[in-house]
Amino acid sequence: DIPADFTLNENEQLLSFSSSNSNINQDDEDERIVGQESSDEGESETLEDTNINENLIDWSLFTDLINTEDHNKEFTFSSFEKHYTHFLLDLREGHLLPQGIIKSITSYFTTMLDALFKLIENQAIQSSTNPLISLVDIGKVILQIKNLIYDISKNDYQFLKRCTDYFGYTEPLKIELDDKNNCGYYVPIERSIQNLLNKPDVINYLIDNVNNNISQTKNDPDLMLTYRDGTAAKDNPSLKLHPNSFLIQLYSDGIGITNPLGPKKDKHKLTLYYFLLEDLPDFVKSMLQSIGLVGICPTKFLSIQTNRMKFFEPIIKDLNHLQTTGLVVQTFNGRLHFAFSLFAADNLASHEIGGFQQNFNSGQFCRLCHISYKFRLIPLTEISFLPRTVTTHGSYVQQAVNLFNTRPVAGVVGESPLSKLIAFHAIKSLPNDLMHDYAEGVCPLIVLAMLKEVSAKRLMTYNQIEQKIHTFSYGMNDQVNKPPTIRATHLTNNNIIGSASQKLCLFKLMPFIFHDVIDQLTNTLDIYTCLREIISYTYSIKFRKSWLMYFQSLTIRFQSLMAHHLPYLIIPKIHFVTEYLRTINANGPATRFWCMRFEAFTLAKRHQLRQCLMLSNKNYYNICTEITLLKPIQYSSLPIPVQRLLTENNINQNIFDECKIIYNKNVMMMRQSVFVERLVDVEEEPCFVSILYFLKIQNIWKAVVEHLQVIGFNETLWAYEIEFCKTFDLLDLDQLLHILPHGLDIYYVQGSAYVNVLSQEEIDGATLARLPYDEVRTLFPKLKDRVLFTEKRDLLIKQWNNIVNEQLDDGDILNQSSKQTFDTCTASQSTTSTQDLLNNPSLSSNNMNGDEFDAASNIDDEVNHDETDDLEEPHQNLPTDFAFSSLPEEIQVIIDDNEYPKANDYFLITQALLKALNISTTDANAANEWREAVKQKFKNERRLLQNTSAVVQKKKEKFGKSSGRFAKKSEALSAERKSDKIIYVSTIMDESDVEQLIITMNEGIENETIHNDE
Ligand SMILES: [Zn+2]
Repeated sequence: DIPADFTLNENEQLLSFSSSNSNINQDDEDERIVGQESSDEGESETLEDTNINENLIDWSLFTDLINTEDHNKEFTFSSFEKHYTHFLLDLREGHLLPQGIIKSITSYFTTMLDALFKLIENQAIQSSTNPLISLVDIGKVILQIKNLIYDISKNDYQFLKRCTDYFGYTEPLKIELDDKNNCGYYVPIERSIQNLLNKPDVINYLIDNVNNNISQTKNDPDLMLTYRDGTAAKDNPSLKLHPNSFLIQLYSDGIGITNPLGPKKDKHKLTLYYFLLEDLPDFVKSMLQSIGLVGICPTKFLSIQTNRMKFFEPIIKDLNHLQTTGLVVQTFNGRLHFAFSLFAADNLASHEIGGFQQNFNSGQFCRLCHISYKFRLIPLTEISFLPRTVTTHGSYVQQAVNLFNTRPVAGVVGESPLSKLIAFHAIKSLPNDLMHDYAEGVCPLIVLAMLKEVSAKRLMTYNQIEQKIHTFSYGMNDQVNKPPTIRATHLTNNNIIGSASQKLCLFKLMPFIFHDVIDQLTNTLDIYTCLREIISYTYSIKFRKSWLMYFQSLTIRFQSLMAHHLPYLIIPKIHFVTEYLRTINANGPATRFWCMRFEAFTLAKRHQLRQCLMLSNKNYYNICTEITLLKPIQYSSLPIPVQRLLTENNINQNIFDECKIIYNKNVMMMRQSVFVERLVDVEEEPCFVSILYFLKIQNIWKAVVEHLQVIGFNETLWAYEIEFCKTFDLLDLDQLLHILPHGLDIYYVQGSAYVNVLSQEEIDGATLARLPYDEVRTLFPKLKDRVLFTEKRDLLIKQWNNIVNEQLDDGDILNQSSKQTFDTCTASQSTTSTQDLLNNPSLSSNNMNGDEFDAASNIDDEVNHDETDDLEEPHQNLPTDFAFSSLPEEIQVIIDDNEYPKANDYFLITQALLKALNISTTDANAANEWREAVKQKFKNERRLLQNTSAVVQKKKEKFGKSSGRFAKKSEALSAERKSDKIIYVSTIMDESDVEQLIITMNEGIENETIHNDE
């Protein structure tokens, strides 16, 4: 059902609209208009249907019926009722409109009758002082109204004209592609953006969010929040010119138009191009109306190169004009500037847009590097591929053009249709996409491999697997993405069905659904776990530059494990997973530019009209707190601890409003869901809370939460084991969304409770430092806590500053690190020489297992056991009994005291390791990789240090088997690489093309000594 205020406000809109030619003053009505956009996108969209799609709706409804049936009879209230019922019946059964829409139409009608009366009243006042009006005059008014209504709905042109006049509707323009009348459409982007930014709320969200992001990264340069924080932004010509530009992302998606009764599915395919203002905050970015349509074209036309060029010509012209001249809007003094950042699409569309080959099963299928299909099975520990570079790319394009685009040259088939777009380059502007590469790519692939292993090991039959997935009870938050039943036939056909988010949900819950057999999946469990760790990075909203090297070692491990265990499943997307270091380093967190897929798709005109409906509202976005299942609750009926909590917080209310679900900033928050309240310590451990009540306290919704104690991280389940600790707290709703903007579920395995988190989110010392006093006061209402907090915080900041200072003393490490990351992925000789030392398995495992470190990290015997295989490695740099001669005193103290390490300790440990390994302490790459690796290790293991707690001890014994697994992660550090890595230089076209080969090799050599030319 449409909420009452939704229809009411719509009516007000209509009222002011329909009466704008008359004398009724509706100004104050307009002022009162608050947010009205319904949360139910689908409903309001179909509502449009009834308004605009004259082809589908029989408008004769409004003219014929009265005349034919009722004209001759006397018209009574009862016949009016009958007539109206007939009308509704026709809407319901004749046109199959849902009840919600019918209700909305009805309420429009009643408002229109009110308006009609006001018009008549007005007429009466004008014609005489006596409030009497002749039937003739009433007749005139009604006739005028009838003509008006008839005119508007007479044809599409008339309707659209009104939309243009009143609501800033921008009509899509035709692009003639050839003389056969084939065409596409585009929407002038400047007008769209102008309409959008003329809304005060939109411009405010944009500016606030940009400023917020920029000040965060200024305070903490290691942090990556947006495209601005990647290396690509430094070369972006538009950003160079105007660093304060808003970022414009483009993205494309294809849809199939099907006649539901017809035989062929997806018979007509359309490609749609959208723009998105990247700087909008996340909670509005995900809303459908944040996406503006740029162009639409039947997909088959775009497969021809000349058509592509023609189609994008006006779009590029528009975007370039916008980037060079900027915009002036009503809501902002001065000129706004814009910069194109990225183009997100699935791999096929990206290759089409980039002018790369569209075949992924041969030749050079990657748009970032020169990998060749035939080498995809070689573990990346043994080979690496040259990245594509701007200079060589130009010559490949030229060669492909000379060949009339008949065959690929090093994977390039021709010029990109966007090559004239300012700030676009084929090898830089088409990043990998999370949704396609992970959720729809490798995740279902690994799920399938795991299920196949379950079956191959005769742990379960396909039918039992089907049953198991079907009967699993999903948590409240995961319920939304519950995957469809996977049938035995799907498994036989290697096909996991469902949407991207459903596939990701299934992937996430695999260890819970199959917890009783998961330990026996010796082939696939390691791969799964490794992928989970990779995903915990790629799906982060914030990324750290210092994570990059460790992250890269994870992706290399993943690819190598695949090559070893599941070589037949090495599809190109496995390779793409290993490209995320480059992608993220250049463009910022991958979650900023993934393809969001919306359930409801609207075509060019429809999309524009929807936009226009939104624009007709005073606020473009309707960010309000919505509540469901509201009921009052007595103080006395709350549990005693909650009562005590309220009293402690000086709340003396006797009765509260209570509810089960709150939509806060577009996030559904439910009772019993788990949220991350904050992160603690250097390893950024989440502090979970579970929501007990939503209570309205002094007119503000607050959450009564119970703290959950983390007992340990179970790597097999890839989840935190938690315990309810019976301590309660009163929190603001926004505070719960600060770190992870959605709720989590608790799952029980063998009586223990677990929280399953997909990405690693973190808060940083700098944010803490800038926390203004007022916020501190709200966070910690009690003076004692506040003092404690401020003390701890100052201590933390001091340590943090020390580290930064020390780093600065060592030279500009941060700059170096961003430059050097490219170097290591090209595996140039100069870096491998130090890496070899690092990577030597015997070395890294042995010194980590040295006596001193055993005490600190509690590595259990299994590690030693696991590592014995590696000892056979013939090439050894150090004796097997190598130990540090001495440790820095500070570290020794920590180890002796079994304390948790602080940021500074990690820094010292890393420095000590580097020194011991004879690596320069200024080698930022090595330092970062080692620090993150050690940190990760502690993060997953250090809970085992809590041997003092009896509860923990008990739990550990109960679920003790998992503790042995942790150690395996340490191998992931770098232990797997061989010392001699091959640099693969691709053969270009055929062997005779020596000249090109020389250019490429020269570049390879340059890359080793000078840096990358990008
Ligand atoms: Zn590649």
